[in-house]
Order: sequence, then C-alpha cells, then structure tokens
Amino acid sequence: MRIFLSFLGVWLAGRVKLRVPFSISEEIRRNPQKHPSKEPQAKPFHFVSSCASFNLPFSSAVLFLLLIILQTSCYTLPPETSNKYPLLRLQEKYSIYLDATWTTKDAAALLKVFESIDPYLLNPQFSSWNISDDELENGIKIEFKDKSTHVTISRRALPTEESEEILSPEKHLFSAVVQFITDNGTNRSAIELIMRTRYGIDVPSHAALPSRTKNNTAKGYSDFENEDLMLIMSVLEEFPQSLHKTPQLKYIVRRVDKEEKGISSAMISRGYITFAESIFLRDHHSDTSQGRFHRDDTRKIIAHEKAHFLWAYVFNHQLKKDWSKLGGWQQDLTRESGWSTTQERSAFVTDYAYTEDPNEDMAESIGFYFIYPDKLRSCCPAKYEFIHNRIMLLYGKRWSPSNPM
Ligand SMILES: [Zn+2]
Repeated sequence: MRIFLSFLGVWLAGRVKLRVPFSISEEIRRNPQKHPSKEPQAKPFHFVSSCASFNLPFSSAVLFLLLIILQTSCYTLPPETSNKYPLLRLQEKYSIYLDATWTTKDAAALLKVFESIDPYLLNPQFSSWNISDDELENGIKIEFKDKSTHVTISRRALPTEESEEILSPEKHLFSAVVQFITDNGTNRSAIELIMRTRYGIDVPSHAALPSRTKNNTAKGYSDFENEDLMLIMSVLEEFPQSLHKTPQLKYIVRRVDKEEKGISSAMISRGYITFAESIFLRDHHSDTSQGRFHRDDTRKIIAHEKAHFLWAYVFNHQLKKDWSKLGGWQQDLTRESGWSTTQERSAFVTDYAYTEDPNEDMAESIGFYFIYPDKLRSCCPAKYEFIHNRIMLLYGKRWSPSNPM
C-alpha cells in the first residue's frame, strides 16, 4: 500500500509541478550569481504553497489520503541536504573539514564568520576542525601535523543563545577565525586584507606616506607591527557591523612620539587616524608614568579616534543635539573649544570629556562603553543608555553605514 501511495504521490507531484526542494533553492538564494538562469521560481516557499493549494480539484478518498501524506511531508522536510549546507560550503570554499563535535548550528556560525570577513576569501589549504571544552588563548589552537592543519576551537568562542554579546554574538568566533586566517597574527598580507575588506582601512608603509601626511615627510612615522593591527581590528570589531566601515576613514598611520607622548588624533578632513607609537609599546601593566600604556587604555584610544569619524560623518544633527543637551553643553565663544557645560565634573567620564566639547565627550564615552563599561555606567548612566540604545542597538540592526540616523 505504501509503495502504491508513493507511486501515486510521485505522479501527483508531477501533475502539480512541485517546485524546487528547499536545499537547492536555498543554495540559489544565497548564490544567485552561480545560477543566473534559475531565478524567480526558485523561491523556497513555493513548495509549501503548492502543497497547500493543489487539493482543490480532487475529491476521491484515495487522493484525500494522499493529500494528508503529502501535507505531512510539507512539514517533515527540509531534506537532509539542507542541514549539510554549511559543512559542504566550508569544505568547498575554504577546504575546512569539521569533525563530529560540530553541530549544524555551530557550522553555520563558522561559515557566517568566514563569509563576513571577505566573501571572496579562499583558503585552498586543507584543515580539519574540532571543538574542545578547553579554554584556549584567543579561543583557538592551530597545529600542523601530518602535513595538514588541525584547528581546535574553544566551545566558549561559539555564539550561544544566552550570549550577553547582544551587539555581536559572533565576536569571539570572529577573533578566533582571524587568528587562523592570519596564521596567529603573523601573516601581514592577510591582516591588511581584513583591515581593508572589513573595515575599509589601508595600512600604508610609512615610506609611502610623505604625500599623505600633513608635513609631506615620512620622517617621524613608523610601520605598525602586526600585533598593533591585530589590536586595532579587535577594537573596530566591537562596533556594530554597519559601523565597521566609515568611508571617510581611509587609512591609519603610526607616529613616532618622542615628544607629545601618547597623543593620537583623528584627522577628520584628511581621512586618517594618527596613532602615537608609544600606545602600542608592549606592556601589560599600567605604568603611564613611564610613558607606557595599559593595553586597555590603548584599546580605549582606538575606539575614541574611530568615534570621531562617526561624529563627523555618520551621526545626524538630531543625535548630536540630543547628546549635547544630555551633557549640558552650550556654545561658549570665551572658551578655546567653543563650548562649556553647565554640569559638574562628576557627570563626565574623564577630565578631557568634561573640559572639551560634546564631540570629545562622545568619543571618550564610546571608548569607555566598550572598554570600561562599568565606569561609564556608574558615572553617567544616562550617557551609557544613550550610547547603548541610540547608537549601538540602532546601528546593530542596520546593514549600511551610508544610511545615517
Ligand atoms: Zn578626541
């Protein structure tokens, strides 16, 4: 009886022209360029709508039975192949082979991260990946044995449903994958590729700088080390994806700062950021008296300078006006900055935020939002909420930075 029903089912399916199975149409939807000839009818939802509509012309009991069977099949699909999609795609595009420790959901998260870094990135070298419960530095361990690459990802790096990282749940997996792509932060061209494709930022050699710097000379500049760039990327990644690229921020330079130690600046009209070399000196202890910077202070400076570009080119007039009001800012031509505030120092996250202007107040507050959120929350809860709701959450839902608030 089952065989007979199946036969009738196939015949009936032919009659009602069942559409493309979900897995194939899903593939086409994701890769329309690969399937230029199969467009509109390849919508994944047609299968269900066909199932729902073809019963009308038939009235016999057998066909009614078949209808029930086929209706059930509408809900028991998707076919197995759609579950394998991320695994197959990782193999096909990146030569990545996942073992049985990976669920389809984890594989989908890994694929998403790879594709978000650079849709054209290819990694033809074979690598096998497994998940471990161990805590690993940067969430990843990369080993070379038996002429191939073995990668272990820490389970903690994988996004979870309960993740507190509402802005970017894949952040930890992203930084693990960056370690892989850049050979643990040693492959300069891979680092520069990610800087360019994900954040829109070039890293010119200091020798190539003269025509691009204020003083038309390469003197006084130095090249970023790989570790500096890895640190910069990790901070830029904290921003919502739609703010990763600010088209007006084109490149970054590193200034040798024997004098004016630690002063970095956003060259807004020229389209670059000058970072002070001393903020990258390797010192994991806070010892600013020696002119050295704690790593977190360096991270805060990076976020601060990026925020100036957002203020200049992304945030709209209303947002800036509301922020200025929140800080009690008013224009004051007697002050060098052109602004003064009616509020007390305690309502600001740093002296600098208090003494300058709404723009510096915002840049400092955004730096603290990412790096020292508790400090911002305790001194200035309304500012924390403003940045969280009106900037991070809102831009977290957007895809394009060219769509200003
Ligand atoms: Zn500033």
